[in-house]
Amino acid sequence: MDFRDTPEEAAFRHEVREFIDNELPERFRGISMSPMGGGEGGDLRSRFEELKEWRKRLADKGWIAPAWPKDYGGAGLGVMQQFVMNEEFAEARAPVVGGMGTSMVGPTLIVHGSEDQKKEHLGRILSGDAQWCQGFSEPGSGSDLASLQTRAVRDGDDYVVNGQKIWTSGAQYAHWMFLLARTDPEAPKHKGISYFLVDMKSPGITVRPLINLAGSAGFNEVFFDNVRVPAKNLVGEENRGWYIGTTTLDFERSSIGSAVGQRIQVETMINFAQEHATDGRSALRHSAGLRYELSDRLLETHVAKMLSYRVVTMQAKGLVPNYEASMTKLFASELSQRISRTGIKVAGLYGQLMPASEHAPARGRYGNMYLQTLGSTIAGGTSEIQRNIIATRGLGLPRD
Ligand SMILES: Cc1cc2nc3c(=O)[nH]c(=O)nc-3n(C[C@H](O)[C@H](O)[C@H](O)COP(=O)(O)OP(=O)(O)OC[C@H]3O[C@@H](n4cnc5c(N)ncnc54)[C@H](O)[C@@H]3O)c2cc1C
Repeated sequence: MDFRDTPEEAAFRHEVREFIDNELPERFRGISMSPMGGGEGGDLRSRFEELKEWRKRLADKGWIAPAWPKDYGGAGLGVMQQFVMNEEFAEARAPVVGGMGTSMVGPTLIVHGSEDQKKEHLGRILSGDAQWCQGFSEPGSGSDLASLQTRAVRDGDDYVVNGQKIWTSGAQYAHWMFLLARTDPEAPKHKGISYFLVDMKSPGITVRPLINLAGSAGFNEVFFDNVRVPAKNLVGEENRGWYIGTTTLDFERSSIGSAVGQRIQVETMINFAQEHATDGRSALRHSAGLRYELSDRLLETHVAKMLSYRVVTMQAKGLVPNYEASMTKLFASELSQRISRTGIKVAGLYGQLMPASEHAPARGRYGNMYLQTLGSTIAGGTSEIQRNIIATRGLGLPRD
């Protein structure tokens, strides 16, 4: 890869920087959070409200959904432009506002949705009026998602849904869910699943928040008790939901935002260690090993960036990253845990304190990060599953 920008990319980078300089409200600088899940805990709905102004400025520029085609209200940006935009937003720690609506269900509807579904949902995703959650995982079906058991049975103009979803991020705030449910229990498991749009206010839906280790309710259990979903909310054909669920547009999926964010986290740790080198609030003074550890973490963030470059280079050439995307996910998620462990050490014993404690260094960031990052090697496909993909598709090793 040529690491330098082309003249067009440089001009676009300049435009993005200028936009951030002029439009990102001062109070959001350095927050860097996603509207549904992630971030540093707290009430996500009130944060979402706070972000309205930033969202409006992005919407006016047409940058809420950079990857969507212009016909559907997106910016129609190419892979490299999205990469540049994600990199610059991450450098500025500008809050991400899209969520699952713009990244997952919107693109699916653009490709597979009926005209009525597009008309009903795409505008409200772009305006932020409708938040979405992903109803895929179940208590017995995560890595082996196609074994899911939630049933949808056709009854007149509706489907009647019964079953349970789990780990549903943001379900307590979401207006809509995109749901995978079994419509043909007799068919081979991938072939009996359908994709539905479900109004979270439908009678029979119960959402029970699950409190994670860090004390925040990021995800939920969702129960369906004879929930009637209008048949018009079936996306694509019945029993083709598995294939619809895997739809993506030509998205930039390099995770460059997370690579840049991790580098900033390590740099912040190094600053903390330097500032508190002599007042006892940093363990750096007592541990020479910690210096090496910080250096290793910083180097690793650069490795993460190179892995992102590899993915985006493939995409820009029209190739589809496969095990390369698994390498990026595996490395970045495990790195997030190593970074948080280093953070705890840098802050010494006080590093374990949570944000609520007045004695917590760096406003409890390290203690919180340590607990929040535990889920990163599970969410979106576990490390073992990524390693299986790298072993079989990347190294050509036999499956068993
Ligand atoms: C923070 C967070 C947010 C999430 N948000 C959502 C959401 O919004 N919507 C949603 O639908 N789901 C969500 N999930 C669920 C997530 O997709 C699943 O947890 C994940 O796919 C793993 O499934 P599981 O929990 O059922 O574990 P299992 O699949 O039961 O795995 C248990 C263990 O066995 C290992 N294992 C399983 N199969 C294999 C294999 N073939 N080879 C080797 N090892 C294997 C796994 O690696 C793991 O260590 C979220 C999870 C987390 C942690």
